[in-house]
Amino acid sequence: QSVIVNGEFVERSKAKIDIEDRGYQFGDGIYEVIRVYNGKMFTATEHLERLFESSKKIRMQIPYTINELNQMLTELITRNDLTIGTIYMQITRGISPRNHAFPAADIQPTLVAYTKEAARPVETMRAGVKTILNEDIRWLLCDIKSLNLLGNLMAKQKAVEAGCFEAIQHRDEIVTEGSLSNISIIKNGKVITHPANHLILNGITRQKVLEICQNNNIPFEEIPFTLEDLKNADEIFLTGTTVEITPIVEVEGEKVGSGTIGSITNKLQQLFEKEIEKQCGR
Ligand code: PLP
Repeated sequence: QSVIVNGEFVERSKAKIDIEDRGYQFGDGIYEVIRVYNGKMFTATEHLERLFESSKKIRMQIPYTINELNQMLTELITRNDLTIGTIYMQITRGISPRNHAFPAADIQPTLVAYTKEAARPVETMRAGVKTILNEDIRWLLCDIKSLNLLGNLMAKQKAVEAGCFEAIQHRDEIVTEGSLSNISIIKNGKVITHPANHLILNGITRQKVLEICQNNNIPFEEIPFTLEDLKNADEIFLTGTTVEITPIVEVEGEKVGSGTIGSITNKLQQLFEKEIEKQCGR
């Protein structure tokens, strides 16, 4: 397995990270996960643009262009002969003696990327998943795809321990997002999801689904919705790079609608698959 460390391709077993890398010590960095279908990246530009947006928000310079990153990742897919899976990429502020304040601007950020084989989640996309509710206790810059994921990890762990796939997070009465996904509800034929502000990560899959709605005359609205709305929803689904569009069939032990995948969620899945084929072939 080849991995990328600072622009170089190295064998995974040879890759080394310094103990004073700020990503390791502080979570001082950002990341992206990009889907690979049929040996090609899906929505790569959108992911790389978001990476640059995240970097600006934490005042970190990325010493590559989007094109350079795209070329490196494409080369990584080829070297590892990856057909279906994911690329994980992270950039930290670099290596410097431990100090909360940012180091001088001349240190080099640390870039790491590697690939993983992963099939599409066909079973959960068909059957749906169970969820719990969890108070969203995270910080107020959830729009940054930051390495600091403890709040998300604790939410996900709580779900797993309850025998569920995901935790639906809420700030008081308002539903924000999952621990690793965005949440949408469908009521009377309309798709409703939290607006893209500082309280959620603006998921690339979320954006793709809204684009699909727009292009296929499926009504949608980006507006905060409540726990009550969630309870009364006809359909609920989550979106994310690895989970694609996954129906939620249970919340806190209560069935959503009939307890199986809803017709609009199903239609969105089919349209999403067409998008994958358009970009990556079949
Ligand atoms: N929200 C959170 C907290 C996430 O970690 C993710 C990442 O998978 C998402 C939403 C979905 O984003 P995307 O569709 O870009 O993968």
